[in-house]
Amino acid sequence: EKVLSRKLTDQVFQVDIEGALRHTLNVEIPSHKHINGSMFETVKNYLALLYDYFPIGENGKNFIQCAQHKLAEKGDSVLGVQFADDVTLCQNRYFPVYLDPHGGWLGCQGSLPAFRGFPCSMWTMFHTLTVQAYNKGTGDPQQVLKVMASYIGTFFGCTDCANHFTGMAKHLSEEVTSHRDSILWLWKAHNKVNKRLHGDQTEDPYFPKVQFPPATVCPKCTLPNGIHDEEQTVEFLRRMYTNISYIVASDV
Ligand code: FAD
Repeated sequence: EKVLSRKLTDQVFQVDIEGALRHTLNVEIPSHKHINGSMFETVKNYLALLYDYFPIGENGKNFIQCAQHKLAEKGDSVLGVQFADDVTLCQNRYFPVYLDPHGGWLGCQGSLPAFRGFPCSMWTMFHTLTVQAYNKGTGDPQQVLKVMASYIGTFFGCTDCANHFTGMAKHLSEEVTSHRDSILWLWKAHNKVNKRLHGDQTEDPYFPKVQFPPATVCPKCTLPNGIHDEEQTVEFLRRMYTNISYIVASDV
């Protein structure tokens, strides 16, 4: 069991990031009755971001593009239920978009259903997007963080989390000028959250919140004084969030 949990903290699984994508598009966004104004812009920007950087096959790309076209047809507002119908229509048109999750979360599986799951998958998708943008090397280096901060602030179910996160993201414009900065910014932000939540009742006792990556996962990332070496850490994060596993829970 120890070997499995160690493996699962530094391995990214496609079923987990697809779970995040699916939940945002099928549940979180449609839970709003009217999507208009800045909310509508946020959805538009979120879909564009997914199209650019979410690692998904040809059906997945066509699906996201289909959802973008359907949204554009609506003009500047859409009902949550209409958005959900369009997503379903596009999903059926380009079936199969997602891996069959066969039993749900993998890297984000909690020791009890109350732990981990969707919030874990959001972080995983979010880091993946910063790394995929780095790998592509083009585009605005602040785009991933700005669009995701706006998504989290508008749609993320946990309001406290959203407030904390948008507070941290206030000075992004000055703090991030390269794709590498964007990877590091998110890594640091996530570690601040890990620090705050360590020992909290939401912490899964099987997956304690640590300053990531711990030396057991990346020995080279931690200097003798216990501080992370940024050069090694960024290399580690790039590998981790690029080499995504396609196995599903029933394969384990
Ligand atoms: P998570 O923290 O969800 O991490 C998921 C995986 O990411 C880990 O298993 C590990 O592989 C990797 N990882 C961990 N740290 C790093 C890092 N620094 N860099 C790169 N990869 C890393 N909950 C609250 O109670 N209060 C909050 O204010 C709050 N804010 C949140 C803000 C955001 C944007 C999100 C997405 C979630 C927030 N949550 C908050 C939820 C909380 O952070 C965890 O997601 C949840 O408790 C599940 O924790 P977990 O053990 O699965 O690990």
